Amino acid sequence: MTLLQATDVYRFYHVGDDETRALRGASLEVRAGELVVLLGRSGSGKSTLLACLAGLDDPDGGQVEVAVASRRLSRRPEVQRARLRAEHLGVMLQSGNLLPHLNVLENVLLTGRILGKPDEVRARELLAQLGLAGRLAAYPSQLSGGETARVSLAAALAHGPAILLADEPTAELDLQTEVQVAQVIEAFVRQPGHGALIATHSPRLAAHASRVLRLKDGRWQDA
Ligand code: ADP
Ligand code: ADP
Repeated sequence: MTLLQATDVYRFYHVGDDETRALRGASLEVRAGELVVLLGRSGSGKSTLLACLAGLDDPDGGQVEVAVASRRLSRRPEVQRARLRAEHLGVMLQSGNLLPHLNVLENVLLTGRILGKPDEVRARELLAQLGLAGRLAAYPSQLSGGETARVSLAAALAHGPAILLADEPTAELDLQTEVQVAQVIEAFVRQPGHGALIATHSPRLAAHASRVLRLKDGRWQDA
């Protein structure tokens, strides 16, 4: 079963007279049960691709479809993309997705609240699995980089999305914490009808990959 599908995605940035072709015809599928790992050097287009797949950005060409719901995500008004994202996707970006005026538990419950189905049991369970049971009342400014990454992962997953999209989820973590994060991601993917696409250079995460995709200058390297 295909959960998420991108077809021939193009994204160009224009700054002054300069044009950067960040994505030049990238296509991919994430199927149920898959942990797809996305590799590529800095500047190869990974963040742009994840943003387009998450509906945070809209491609200039091609299409992104939330196939699990038979819904096109690209070329829609932002408010519709946000709705589809909340319903079907868990998104963890490097820039962080935590609101500063909400504590850890409130941040993790936020998307569920927006959807009208906050699941506090699941939120607490995820935070406990990530070693954060003692940090529920902390605010984002009080968290270390590694704690921020783990709270962001819990926030991406607590509302029960089918698809996880994550950008370097283990970038700032020590070994023990990286193992916790890898276990949570693997457990997520093992749930029936779930799948993930993760940009990572972590051998520990890549070891569990169903497939590895390599971007180079906005295209698949082997294509
Ligand atoms: P990666 O995540 O692999 O490092 P990015 O998707 O961030 O790659 O960037 C791909 C290319 O697009 C790079 O050349 C980068 O400089 C350029 N780029 C990314 N975001 C912007 C932007 N907002 N404006 C202009 N150029 C951008
Ligand atoms: P497609 O996604 O196949 O291009 P449309 O954009 O025309 O088709 O949408 C198909 C139907 O779904 C329309 O009735 C439209 O009103 C409805 N729809 C579009 N976007 C959303 C959304 N984000 N949530 C719920 N319904 C939507």
